[in-house]
Amino acid sequence: MSSTATTEEYKLVETRLQEKLADGTTRCNLCLWQCRLKHGQRGFCQAHVNRHGTLYNLSYGIISAMDIGPIEDKPVKHFRPGTRVMSVGSYGCNFRCGGCHNLEISWGTEALDALARGESTAVHASAEQLVEAALRHGVEGIAFTYSEPAVWLEYVLDVSQRAREAGLYTVYVSNSFVTDEALELMAPWVDVLCSDIKSLDNDFYKKICPRASVQQVLDSVERAHQLGIHVETRTNIIPGYNDDPVMLKQIAEWIHEHLGADSPWHITKFFPAFKLSDVPPTPSESLWQAHDMAREAGLTRVYVYDDKGCDCAEENLPVDAYLDEDPDTLHEVKKCASDCCGDEGVLLKKYERQLQSG
Ligand code: SF4
Repeated sequence: MSSTATTEEYKLVETRLQEKLADGTTRCNLCLWQCRLKHGQRGFCQAHVNRHGTLYNLSYGIISAMDIGPIEDKPVKHFRPGTRVMSVGSYGCNFRCGGCHNLEISWGTEALDALARGESTAVHASAEQLVEAALRHGVEGIAFTYSEPAVWLEYVLDVSQRAREAGLYTVYVSNSFVTDEALELMAPWVDVLCSDIKSLDNDFYKKICPRASVQQVLDSVERAHQLGIHVETRTNIIPGYNDDPVMLKQIAEWIHEHLGADSPWHITKFFPAFKLSDVPPTPSESLWQAHDMAREAGLTRVYVYDDKGCDCAEENLPVDAYLDEDPDTLHEVKKCASDCCGDEGVLLKKYERQLQSG
């Protein structure tokens, strides 16, 4: 079922966690959407497509953003402090956060549509190329971030294995709406999980992901911890949305009970964006009130980010700047190099219909 790309050509890669059901339907078990897809359909994340009864990842090796900086910016404070990581992300996400700062990257629908049509000039880097770039830039680790890495897991795993062999660590920045199977695949290779706990209110989660519940997210965070991954958690406090002090204290208590008193909790400031452009930045008092309550709850490692901007990719250098390749080659039109489903293999049903009617 699994497949690993070993060439530097762009191609669709079989989704590792898929069940083949009747009538050519596939169920994806990467994240808790567990999308059931028929031929030509893409998952909620848009990054996985069923082609003739097999599920493929469309975004394997496709890089939307890169940056280099301290691991503390992820934020991760208690794993290899003082080291630098190369952050990378692709297109596609399994949440639709109203305050998303990385819309074009995380949802990436246009980019994924272009890939599906065989018209994309997005940058592709093999797992080997990415690890080589990280080594060349002298970083100690690679972080998968900007959008949810679970929807890109095939590549995350291939990079993580090669990174481990090369002496680099890996960081996975996630919303933790992932399956146990995905966590179990990751656990031997991924060193750090930096996970959001966005709220303890189911309605909050339902607005950004109708299938999600608080308990699913908490269970995934705890499972990662049990599997031996170094876990740090983060809550971005949005005024009027998840700033209830009682609930914030309960998050701290949950961390204390399930991850331990010394498990780091990062409290970050909200900055207006997208659908929440009219919401003001988080006042300092809210951040510090949550900090003080977490300390009262017994957490020993609580960090407030009061004067730091968001970790969005807007100001990153172009991806080309980090990959030692000819820019023309990097931006060649990406057509699937695999011949398993014919010349039209990457085209999706909706485009097939358009082609027929046009
Ligand atoms: S990764 Fe999640 S959203 Fe994407 S196809 Fe799989 S189950 Fe659906």
